[in-house]
Amino acid sequence: MTVIQEEDLIDSIADAFQFISCYHPVDYIHALGEAWQNERSPAARDAIAQILTNSRLCAEGRRPICQDTGIAVVFLRVGMEVRWRATQSVQAMVDEGVRRAYTQVDNPLRASVLLDPAGARKNSRDNTPAVVHYEIVEGDTVDVICAAKGGGSENKSRLVMLNPSDSIVDWVLQTLPTMGAGWCPPGILGLGIGGTPEKAMLLAKKSLMSQVDIQSLKTRGAQNRIEELRLELYEKINTLGIGAQGLGGLTTVLDVKILDYPTHAASLPVAMIPNCAATRHVHFQLDGSGAAKMALPNLEDWPQVTWQPDTETATRVNLDALTKEEVSAWRPGQSLLLSGKMFTGRDAAHQRISNMLAAGEKLPIDFNNRVIYYVGPVDPVGDEAVGPAGPTTATRMDKFTRMMLEKTGLIAMVGKAERGTEAIAAIRDNNSAYLMAVGGAAYLVSKAIKSARVVAFADLGMEAVYEFEVEDMPVTVAVDSKGSSVHDSGPHEWRQKISKIALADRQGI
Ligand code: SF4
Repeated sequence: MTVIQEEDLIDSIADAFQFISCYHPVDYIHALGEAWQNERSPAARDAIAQILTNSRLCAEGRRPICQDTGIAVVFLRVGMEVRWRATQSVQAMVDEGVRRAYTQVDNPLRASVLLDPAGARKNSRDNTPAVVHYEIVEGDTVDVICAAKGGGSENKSRLVMLNPSDSIVDWVLQTLPTMGAGWCPPGILGLGIGGTPEKAMLLAKKSLMSQVDIQSLKTRGAQNRIEELRLELYEKINTLGIGAQGLGGLTTVLDVKILDYPTHAASLPVAMIPNCAATRHVHFQLDGSGAAKMALPNLEDWPQVTWQPDTETATRVNLDALTKEEVSAWRPGQSLLLSGKMFTGRDAAHQRISNMLAAGEKLPIDFNNRVIYYVGPVDPVGDEAVGPAGPTTATRMDKFTRMMLEKTGLIAMVGKAERGTEAIAAIRDNNSAYLMAVGGAAYLVSKAIKSARVVAFADLGMEAVYEFEVEDMPVTVAVDSKGSSVHDSGPHEWRQKISKIALADRQGI
């Protein structure tokens, strides 16, 4: 019989979430480094270089990889020979660990969890409660996996109940392009096949907790149907040309993971969940000897990639003197370096602005000729102006875009991922533009932010409106004033190129 002490679980959970906030798993970093080396699309290669540089900076500075430090997901495999010496439930102990991790003063993590999700949506302020999954298994230890899952990738989760005769590969290849780039590719795709709908979703999530090993599987060769499927999907998904950040390129997924389970004769449940550029998970075991120790990674494992803004070819933009004429002259794919003042705002701020305008109220800030950055930053520490502050998924702001452009005087937006038809039409009609920053490079982006102050809606916490003063903040024109989008043209161009590359390889050219 093993006795697990309450403080050991709490301390281990707290350490684990702090650890994964700033250290990518080394297998992920190796796979991303290889993708960077092999990438031939300049835009995708640049985006991967930013993610790798960000990763190293975060590991060195012990700061979060992404501004979205995730919802805490914990898998527990509890041995039947374990006894707890604890005064609270396992859920309460896990929550206490999460609370301590997310409110740590040296490296505060962003609290993203909202209570009353269908109603008031009030931030719990400490990222609790965690989502905890339990298994009771043979043995006398407690195996724990902690994962921090960002909203951008969780929002792209899919579930389908296929007919038994349907093709899983066809469904994945048809569905993945509809998920857009909000999951910050390149990442890892997890599939759960079989069981019941809820079992398939859990399998998909759990599949993402294992190491990236598709290259060794390619070398060894598939030995069962699931491994065949992994290899087939990995190859076919990467011919879609989606690429890093959806900009078009050779690598969309670094691995495809699959777990399966027996299912009903009438059913073929298939769940799909992506892991993003902020892939974060750690595994440990409690055996009664104390709290788990997280082994610090060796920074030599990070590839020697140091991204710098391209000051020679990028266009410098003075945000404090920006005009509609200048915005309408930007072209898709153009690299810009922004300097000056910009506002921030995301979901809750847009909703409030919309409500205020509908009620005929005056807005607390003047958006005339200003740019808005879709972001919810991490709180700063030390002499930082702001903590990691990467872009959030712009598509969620699509329904507010026409209102913002036509009723507030806003002239451009910065976010991540593609825009939908409704937003692109509003951008075109108003000679505006949408700029993208790299999702998953939040700490790197924050280095360009020289000052930050809340200017409206302070009660919204990380969703408040800030005014940022930035210097040479790197962005790319993703939708121009004519409505051309790099998220359409990039993948289209690279899908064609990949088919030519594949043909040339087959012909030995
Ligand atoms: S990398 Fe992208 S999807 Fe992942 S947590 Fe960060 S912003 Fe969200």
